[in-house]
Amino acid sequence: MALDIVYWPDPVLTRPASPVGSVDEELRSVVAAMRRVMFRLKGVGLAAPQVGVGRRVMLVCPSGAPGDEEVVVDPEILERHGEVEGDEGCLSLPGLYGPVVRAERIRVRYRDLDGRLHERDLEDFPARVFQHEHDHLEGVMFPDRMTPTARAEVEDQLQAFRAAYAAKDGSGRA
Ligand code: ZN
Repeated sequence: MALDIVYWPDPVLTRPASPVGSVDEELRSVVAAMRRVMFRLKGVGLAAPQVGVGRRVMLVCPSGAPGDEEVVVDPEILERHGEVEGDEGCLSLPGLYGPVVRAERIRVRYRDLDGRLHERDLEDFPARVFQHEHDHLEGVMFPDRMTPTARAEVEDQLQAFRAAYAAKDGSGRA
């Protein structure tokens, strides 16, 4: 399946994704394509909307090392504890970085591609990656989580992404 990265403000990135339900061959193909895109672009996570697929599936790979990635299907964040600020970036907004406050520790539940249920506690960077990717499934981009002051500092960059998207006649490929 030939899927590639989709850039903000493609509308697939700003609307909630649909539950996966049962995993089929098409979803497995989507996940295989997501793996290729994430490692080619040296990401530590990737959500299906970022390759133009509005389903609730994401990859998390805090180490960035191929083989360490986990496939996360229909995730839920059950608990959030503490707050910590850290800089984030996004493969759908290349070159743009900014501070985001996230929960320091989370309890999550999801299924893998084989339907097995996982319930785990995550903290620090893995928790941040999970929250960032989970936001993508809700149609939320990380600048939406920045303080008004921090967001103002990246507004020119966001405007450039809007202009590039409009210039590509809505394809989102810049
Ligand atoms: Zn992202």
